[in-house]
Order: sequence, then C-alpha cells, then structure tokens
Amino acid sequence: MRELLLVRFGEVHLKGQNRPYFLRMLVEDVKKALGDPSVRVWLADGRIYVSDFKDMEETATRVSKVFGIYSVSPAYETEKDLEQICSLAADMMKDVKGTFKVLCRRSDKHFPMNSQELAAYAGGRILEKNPALTVDVHKPETEMWIEIREKACLCNREIMGVGGLPMGTSGKALLLLSGGIDSPVAGYQIMRRGVNCQAIHFASPPYTSARAREKVLELARIIGKYEYGMKVHIVPFTDIQMAIHEKCLDELSTVIMRRFMMKISDRIAKQNGCQALITGESIGQVANQTVEALSCTDIMTDLPVFRPLIGLDKLDIIHIAEKIETYETSILPYEDCCTVFTPRHPMTKPKLDKVEKEESKLDADAMIEAAIRDTETILV
Ligand code: ATP
Ligand code: MG
Repeated sequence: MRELLLVRFGEVHLKGQNRPYFLRMLVEDVKKALGDPSVRVWLADGRIYVSDFKDMEETATRVSKVFGIYSVSPAYETEKDLEQICSLAADMMKDVKGTFKVLCRRSDKHFPMNSQELAAYAGGRILEKNPALTVDVHKPETEMWIEIREKACLCNREIMGVGGLPMGTSGKALLLLSGGIDSPVAGYQIMRRGVNCQAIHFASPPYTSARAREKVLELARIIGKYEYGMKVHIVPFTDIQMAIHEKCLDELSTVIMRRFMMKISDRIAKQNGCQALITGESIGQVANQTVEALSCTDIMTDLPVFRPLIGLDKLDIIHIAEKIETYETSILPYEDCCTVFTPRHPMTKPKLDKVEKEESKLDADAMIEAAIRDTETILV
C-alpha cells in the first residue's frame, strides 16, 4: 500500500487553449509549494497526483493552499485484490461516524466485479467493522471512493483548496500596501486570480517608526508566500506629507496625499512591468473613500485600479484577513503615514478643481522625482 494525494483543479477555469500551459504552471507551483525534490508530482487522468512525501497531512495542507487547486484528497493505493481493497476500505472507515456511501469507478473492466457489485460488497465489509455507521445513498456524510485502474485507489476525505488560478497566469500588478487590515486582503484576492504582485509602501520616518515598516514587510512576507517571495518598494513620503501639511488646506490634505500615492505608484508600476494597481479601498469606509474622493485619486493613473474590497463590509474583510493569517499582524498598533498629519475634518466630497488648485501650490513634479529616486526595493 502507498500513500497518495489526489489533487483536483478548477476545471471550468482551466479549460480552453491555455489549458496545457496552465496545467504545467500548476504542477510547477505544487512542486514549489512542497519544496522537496524527492516528492513526486505528476499529471494523469485530469488530476494531479502527489506521492513519496513524508507527512501526508502537512503535504495535503500545503497543496490545498496553491492557487488553482480546487480540492485535495488523501488516498491509499493497493493491489487490485478484492480482499486487500475491502480490508483497506474498512480500516479507513473504522473511526468515521454517521452516514456513508461507497462509490466505485472501474476503468479496468477485467476486475471481477462491476462497480455496483464492488460498492455493495465493500459497503458490507465496512459495516462489519464499524456497525455504528449507516448507509445513506442520497446525502451521505462520508463518501468512500474506490477507483480501479492499474491499481486500486481509495479515498474518503476531501480538503477544499483555495481555488483561483495558477500564480503568474494573469499578469503583474502593484499593490498599495499599508500596515492596515484591508490592503493585504485586497492583494490576496487579486493574487488568487493568478496575478503576480509587487508591493509599494509609503513611509514617513521619523513620524512612522522602524517597527511600522517591519510590520509592512511582515505582511508582504505572509501574502508573498503565495508567489514564493515578493518585491516591496518603500517610498520615502515625509517631505511630500510635510509640504502638503504646510501649504494646502487642511481638509483637502488627505485626498491630495492619496493623489501623490497614486501618481508615484503609477510610475513605479510602469518601471517594473506591472499592468495594474491594487488598493484596499471600500466605499464609504473612511472620508477619503467616498465616490467623490475616489474619482479625484483615480485620474492620477491611466492603469486599471483594482479594488477587490470595494463592496465588502469591514467584518467580511476581517474574516478573510483571519483566514489568510494577516489579521494579527495588521492590528499591531503601529502608526501608518495616513494616521500622521490627519486633518480634523477631512472633506468627504472634494471637488476636483479645488483639489487641483490647492495642489498647484506645491512643486509636485520635483517632489515625485525625488521620492522615486530615493525609493528602496526589498525582496521579502
Ligand atoms: P488599510 O486597512 O489597507 O490600511 P484603510 O482602511 O486604512 O486601509 P486608507 O488609509 O484610506 O484605508 O487607505 C486606503 C488604501 O490606500 C489602502 O488599502 C492601501 O491600498 C492604500 N494605502 C494607504 N496607506 C498606504 C501606505 N502608507 N502605503 C501604501 N499604500 C497605502
Ligand atoms: Mg490604513
């Protein structure tokens, strides 16, 4: 008998002309996620198989977190011998409670029983060993699958995967990453669709501390695991913020600051081959995320701006942050550049002409050039 993982991928999304390319990427991603060259990963019968691993549970968990994976079933392979199959099936079901059903698929027609006969016979053997179980052919709590191919393969568990598309199959984007709860979740949502991400972070030392910077790098490390490392561009933002604070109307300072963020992100994205920007904004969450404020910032770039959280409530976002394990880091109480120099009454419906008039008091181009020149890039 040998241990095996049966790995299913999102069939619908992996169809079409790109299918062979997507599948190759997916197999490579599974190998990378396991990081052990002695583990075997291969494609057959419209699935991915994994064998020769050390720890079945840990391997299954790792594979389930690869983008593009629909589900993973821990499985056992044995000889095509009725006795061996049934005793393995009974053994796999010995601690299971509730209702069950046996399902068989027989591609080897030489096997002496047909699928229905085998299901009925194996079901009986399972009940002998575990009489507390009951059969339910309509809505069983556990499905025991038996497949007869070159060998017999049995599984009775399915671990749901993260879904999405294989990493790197949908281009490249730049994520505006703050230290908050929202932006790491936004990045994750887009990465899950196969988009490679780099991150950009605006820091305003000494108003923002080294610990705040480390927190952002840690968030990049957590979500960067999905693409095996992430580039983070850290932009020095102090001079720009000071200038806005000194020269512009207090109530418009936040929207002006965000316009600078967009402009600089646009430039850094293009320098690095990123085709879109991503932010963690959600309508109405704070003063600068109203429809009016968003239209004042959007025109600073001609790249598409992805805001995957735009229609989500904060609680929905927190729920995802917990699942992807960024929440605990995000709530560490270090300051963000948005929280220093916050105006007391930010304008919720800024008018573009007024914003542009205020902004003209600044030497925007020179400040943007300087910030881009002094940007530091770190690989986490
Ligand atoms: P988050 O929880 O992501 O910090 P937020 O609710 O605090 O979001 P804002 O502070 O208005 O909202 O920021 C909106 C978006 O702007 C963030 O989701 C992020 O994409 C971007 N952003 C904010 N601050 C920074 C920063 N210092 N560096 C990079 N991007 C930032
Ligand atoms: Mg924030």
